[in-house]
Formats: sequence, C-alpha cells, structure tokens
Amino acid sequence: MAEFEAVPVDRRGFLKGAVSSAAAFVVEPPAAGSSDAVQDHTHQVVPSDLTLRVKAIESLLVDKGLVDRAALDAIVDAFETKIGPRNGARMVARAWVDAAYKTRLLRDATGAMAEIGLASYQGEDIVVLENGPKVHNVVVCTLCSCYPWPILGLPPVWYKSAPYRSRAVIDPRGVLREFGLALADDVEIRVWDSTAEIRYLVLPERPAGSEHLTEEALAALVTRDSMIGTAKVDLTPAGERR
Ligand code: FE
Repeated sequence: MAEFEAVPVDRRGFLKGAVSSAAAFVVEPPAAGSSDAVQDHTHQVVPSDLTLRVKAIESLLVDKGLVDRAALDAIVDAFETKIGPRNGARMVARAWVDAAYKTRLLRDATGAMAEIGLASYQGEDIVVLENGPKVHNVVVCTLCSCYPWPILGLPPVWYKSAPYRSRAVIDPRGVLREFGLALADDVEIRVWDSTAEIRYLVLPERPAGSEHLTEEALAALVTRDSMIGTAKVDLTPAGERR
C-alpha cells in the first residue's frame, strides 16, 4: 500500500500554505530503508493547480466572512471521522447476516441504503459488487476521485493519486499485490470505474471463523479498503489495523 501513500498534510496547514506558497509543500525524501524509499515513482510534492485554486477560494471566502471556518471543519470532520466507512460497514454486515437484505442490496443499493437510514448527497446511484472465491472486484475513478461519500466517507489520498488511478486498470493484480493482497491466478479481477453518475461499493467476503459474531461485531471487522476492493476482511477489527 505504500506505493500510493501520499504525504499527509494537516487541512488547516494546507489551506494556510496553499495561498502563500506552493513551494512550502516540498517534502524531504524518505529516509533510506523506509517503506517509501523503495517506491519507484515520484511523490507529487506540490498540490495540483485545481487543489490550489480550491484552497485559495476557500481561504478568500473565510477571510471575507462569507464562510464559517468552524462550519467547514465540522463538515469535513463528519465525513472523515463520524461517517467514515462505518455506514458502508453496516451495510456489509447486514448483508452477511441477512440473505434477503443482501439480495436487495445487490439489486438496488440505494433502496437498501434507505432501509437502514442512509441516503444523502452523492449516494443516489450506488452499485454494490459482490466478491467471491473466484471473483474479486476493485473500484477506481480513473478520471478524478468519484467515491460513495455517504457510505465510505472521504476518499483516501491514494485513491485520488495518479498512480492508483492509472495502474488499477492497467495492472490490477500488481496493484493489489502492492496493497498486500495477492490473489490466485484463477481469481478473476473486475475493475470498476466510478463516475459522477455511478459509484461502486464492494461487498467483501465474510471471513472464515466469523460465524459466531453478531452483526455489530461483524461491522467492526469491515475496513474501508475492503469496500474499495484493495483488501479482504479478516478477523482483525478495522479499528486495530494500522
Ligand atoms: Fe471521479
């Protein structure tokens, strides 16, 4: 997964720096021996023009008092920490314990979301893809970063990175291997390209040994990455993974 990890930047620090100097984001190269040091691609150390433009506009709106900084932070915090991937995990766990719900989820994800109280912006056209022993689905947005926000929260930085967006379709098996997911050659990999109209959620396989767990305990196992398709679910609670 290190292949797609970008340098984390605090949102407020990013906003402040973006309007003063893009050069402020030049980062030190990774130390020899670190996981980043083995990468063969160059980090994008300066934010894209679009990102800079968005941040500059945001900063101006805040400075002019047209937008409340606290309100912006509250919205971002909701998607980052409160919604996160927990809504998606609830749907997955429900599908694992309730076959009828799973059928409805695969047929009409929007309706199945509404059943458990989920429906909001950018969640109108979500399609759920079921992983199995011989089929593995993985989601990308080759154009930008389309993502099912209402059920997965904000997309991870690597999901928006050029290497992931380009290589996921060219060499999905190799990309998954870099995420630590080595699939057997006889497993078909299906890559789905999200758009503004259709966003995908992977229904991962229920892990072996989880038969005794409650729906709530099952939901705690489901990671964000497993619902993008770059990981499988195991018996390690999502919150205890790095
Ligand atoms: Fe997109």
